[in-house]
Amino acid sequence: MAKNYYDILGVSKSASKEELKKAYYKLAHQYHPHKGGSSSDEGKMKEVNEAYQVLKDDQKRTQYDQFGSAFSGAGGFRGGQGASGAGNFSDFADMFRNAQGGGAQGFEFNVNDIGDIFGDFFGGGRSPSRGTRRARGSDIEVDVTLSLRDAVFGKEHTLRLNKDAHCERCSGEGAEPGSKVSTCGTCRGTGQVVRTVGFGIGFPSVCSECGGAGKMVDQKCKDCGGDGIKKVTQDINIKIPAGIDEGQAIKLTSQGAAGQKGGPAGDLYVRVHVQPDSRFDRQGYDLALVQEVSFVQAALGDKVEIETLDGTVKLKIPEGTQPGKVFRVRDKGVPHLNDRGRGDLLVKIQVHVPSKLSKEQRKILEDLDL
Ligand SMILES: [Zn+2]
Ligand SMILES: [Zn+2]
Repeated sequence: MAKNYYDILGVSKSASKEELKKAYYKLAHQYHPHKGGSSSDEGKMKEVNEAYQVLKDDQKRTQYDQFGSAFSGAGGFRGGQGASGAGNFSDFADMFRNAQGGGAQGFEFNVNDIGDIFGDFFGGGRSPSRGTRRARGSDIEVDVTLSLRDAVFGKEHTLRLNKDAHCERCSGEGAEPGSKVSTCGTCRGTGQVVRTVGFGIGFPSVCSECGGAGKMVDQKCKDCGGDGIKKVTQDINIKIPAGIDEGQAIKLTSQGAAGQKGGPAGDLYVRVHVQPDSRFDRQGYDLALVQEVSFVQAALGDKVEIETLDGTVKLKIPEGTQPGKVFRVRDKGVPHLNDRGRGDLLVKIQVHVPSKLSKEQRKILEDLDL
């Protein structure tokens, strides 16, 4: 099967440029080798790049749509009738160059397209202050379990984290204080090399010689062995905002692991889990509870005390209230996350029917005969 650029990007054949771009950025984040996550995949990234470079260009896309379909339908350009798998990518690339009138221009890599993404991966953006692009430390995700009350009203929380931090002895540079520092010959001090992965596509990547620092030291730091990072145990205070819900995460920029050799730190994500509450059930920003009343209260009406997260309130039960009736107590629900206002408290009435009656009670009820 020939590679289908649309499938690779996960878009339809009629996808707009905006859709293409979105799909590309999403996949680039997912697969980029420098991201270092479990899903980073250089091969996939290459494919995604190829697909995008062609489809984002109207002319190339038109050509691809024409040749691409002929290509997969005829089982390859080498004329191998029915030869499965004949449609490998280099065949297509050759064909494509010809269609372009020669040269490798069809697959020239446009660094501007990916600049934003690299900006993210390298943490330093497009104009790093030190003129080098260093490897960014990894993101850290931790889970925090809260009571419903704490999730509703928010709280200060202290997290104890074991993580990579910049080494203090060498200020994260990796050089033993006082040692000689020279410019890295491999990347000429930029900390970055451009690797060509085929079809003229170049990947900026961190220089493996100097680890992105752009310089070499003659004596490595004794504390960290030259990486510029050390394991530390750190207490981090976080403010959990009122109204946060199960599964939501708080991002703390640059509180993740430090990058090697002075590279920027990753981010810290604190994912919140909320323990089920015995009394309240969260429904969006509303809280729901079941309130039991006697059948006399339901029939005659009454004022009952309702326990809310803000203390007790009085709720008027009108006469003739039916089991299952829901009353709404305004503004006693969950505060809106990062916003004004609150949800409501929904009180569902459950009518208690006595399981044992005295003779006297029985007599009265029998006389009622409703
Ligand atoms: Zn050090
Ligand atoms: Zn280097």
